Amino acid sequence: MKNLFVYILLVIFCILSCKTTEQIPVVNTNVVPENTMTKTPSAKNIILLVGDGMGLGQMSAGMFANGNKTALEEFEVIGLHKPYASNKLITDSAAAATSFACGIKTYNGAISVDDNKKPVVTILEEAEKLNYATGLVASSSIVHATPACFIAHNEYRKNYEEIAEDFLDTEIDLFIGGGLKHFNRRDNDERNLIEELEAKGYMMSDYFQADLASLKIDKSKNFGYLTSDEEPLPKAQGRDYLPVASDIAMSFLDGRSDKGFFLMVEGSQIDWGGHANKTDYIISEFLDFEQVIAQALAFAKKDKETLVIVTADHETGGFAIQQESTQDSIVGAFTSNYHTGTMVPVYSYGPQSELFGGIYENTEIYHKMREAFGWNDKAMTDK
Ligand code: MG
Ligand code: ZN
Repeated sequence: MKNLFVYILLVIFCILSCKTTEQIPVVNTNVVPENTMTKTPSAKNIILLVGDGMGLGQMSAGMFANGNKTALEEFEVIGLHKPYASNKLITDSAAAATSFACGIKTYNGAISVDDNKKPVVTILEEAEKLNYATGLVASSSIVHATPACFIAHNEYRKNYEEIAEDFLDTEIDLFIGGGLKHFNRRDNDERNLIEELEAKGYMMSDYFQADLASLKIDKSKNFGYLTSDEEPLPKAQGRDYLPVASDIAMSFLDGRSDKGFFLMVEGSQIDWGGHANKTDYIISEFLDFEQVIAQALAFAKKDKETLVIVTADHETGGFAIQQESTQDSIVGAFTSNYHTGTMVPVYSYGPQSELFGGIYENTEIYHKMREAFGWNDKAMTDK
């Protein structure tokens, strides 16, 4: 009896749906809903490139030193963000990277926690939950403020050993940067996080065991590589891994998940050149990062589904190019050995890049990236 009832329902449904199918051409003639026409596709992959302390002066000096050209010229959409912290007008890298990673303003020194020191979920953690592939690459230690803010939560940026422990809390697919000792020769406990990561299924290696460029990477595993014991050397003193690591990261993450990937690469030491008030240091670090920008752009041009965003967390040094400068010989002057409060350029290329034009808070980088990924629903409720 029940089966007969279901059968009759099915027959009615079929008749109705056949009728509807017949009607479709009539309904659709000349009428396409406007929002379908204007909707551009979401970004499948996002590569966020952060030049720490890379203000417009630093970019200009690097451009002149590079024969008056930079890959930044190929970005069609340019915006500016306002880089201040919740407790200070002049931000540090931790508060600023928390804004990028979590979409909130917080206090200087905070690693993806809010003003009440409560952890706030990061875009990398959200991407992981949605089964995207994820990666972090830096020319500082990987537990330093900027990369740390995408994967760790801590009330204070210098708690490097605690920050290193947080790498075990996500399924990050790839990370490359310095700071080996915070993982395997720790001051506060006897844990060996390298062994713990290996037990979790990671392929782990470091500068002491193998050269990154010639390393055979097992793509069936997640991958971590530590480039130095503490902070990596400046480029001018022999550090050469950042462009290699970025290249490896892009090819490793590409196609690893059907969903896409999120990758953050930091040119960490442009900031250190600013703190040291050394023009040459700024320029050599910019030129190193410039290679990464060019590589990411080439990847995005070929891939066509990748959004590339280049920005800085803040300017460092109050750096300005002086009157006696020539294109071949930049003479810089500094107003500070710390960060400054000037607005910071944002360059974007690829699907949804138009979101990044205009002037906005640094927290908008997070919201705009989510929107670019097509995670619109929550982006709206977050605001
Ligand atoms: Mg940094
Ligand atoms: Zn700094």
